[in-house]
Amino acid sequence: MSGSVMTDQLRADGSLRHLLTLEGLPRTQIERLLERSQGFVRPLGATPAMSRSLAGATVANLFTEPSTRTRVSFELAAKRLGAQVVNLEVQLSSRVKGESMLDTVYTLQSLHVDAFVIRDAEAGVLGLVAANVAPHVSVLSAGEAHVSHPTQGLLDALTVYQRKQRFEGLAVAMVGDIRHSRVARSAWHALHTLGVGDLRIVAPPALMPERDEFAGCTRHTQLATGLKDADVVMMLRIQKERMGQGDLPQGAAYFAAWGLTRERLALARPDAIVMHPQPMNRGIEIASEVADGPQSVIRDQVRNGVAVRMAVLAEVLTSRAGGA
Ligand code: ASP
Repeated sequence: MSGSVMTDQLRADGSLRHLLTLEGLPRTQIERLLERSQGFVRPLGATPAMSRSLAGATVANLFTEPSTRTRVSFELAAKRLGAQVVNLEVQLSSRVKGESMLDTVYTLQSLHVDAFVIRDAEAGVLGLVAANVAPHVSVLSAGEAHVSHPTQGLLDALTVYQRKQRFEGLAVAMVGDIRHSRVARSAWHALHTLGVGDLRIVAPPALMPERDEFAGCTRHTQLATGLKDADVVMMLRIQKERMGQGDLPQGAAYFAAWGLTRERLALARPDAIVMHPQPMNRGIEIASEVADGPQSVIRDQVRNGVAVRMAVLAEVLTSRAGGA
């Protein structure tokens, strides 16, 4: 599987300009983003964190794939920092996608858009846009094909840290459709960089990634060995939209072999946390009693998503020459 076009994400002074992937991002930069994110987290029921720090900036959300949480949380994040937001759902045929996307971006750039938040099903389109925008403009990934979902990786790392207060010494099991998952790739990049030593990918052979990916992770094709004494169990959705018909496991059969039930979760540590990026296929990769159970931090992940997107927007827009 091909990766995205690599574009330099940092400015000459080391500040973050684009966020397309967590791969290769320095640990100090990831830690800085997590610290900044934590500063935006508020308990449920309290007034959300808000400021006018991005007043005068404009953020455009360009989504060519469906999204609920990511799009809404990027929009709330921008608005809670005082930026203006435009949302576009773009339908482009893949043949003309790169060019049409650039035309759309140039138009919006002329309308003073400062940051583009883009989700696209094709690897490479985000890199193309990032390589062609004006120097004061930033591009942020909201999910690129199977390749990366960096703000998800950050919110996952933040959620782990809030519950465990460390990364070193943790055993993290990522379970399910790793092969097609951008969430697993970004979690791997974040957690590996942050020092998680025991990082496991746990999947049936058909859903395992190629051998040259996920360096530093151990591979488990048995759920029981993968879950054993894990501190964190990260369940992943079966990505039907990225599979051929042939390799699609049947729902009930998949659940019987790979679904996370209460009994199976008991193989992990008693204080293990359960994560899922959503949308969940309840009764396929996870039982409802686990998704809604006491070890689940799935709703924390959603709450942390807004905080992380605020931190990333603040980081790229206020570190420009002249600020927001
Ligand atoms: N919402 C996540 C993503 O966009 C996870 C998923 O769709 O399974 O990748």
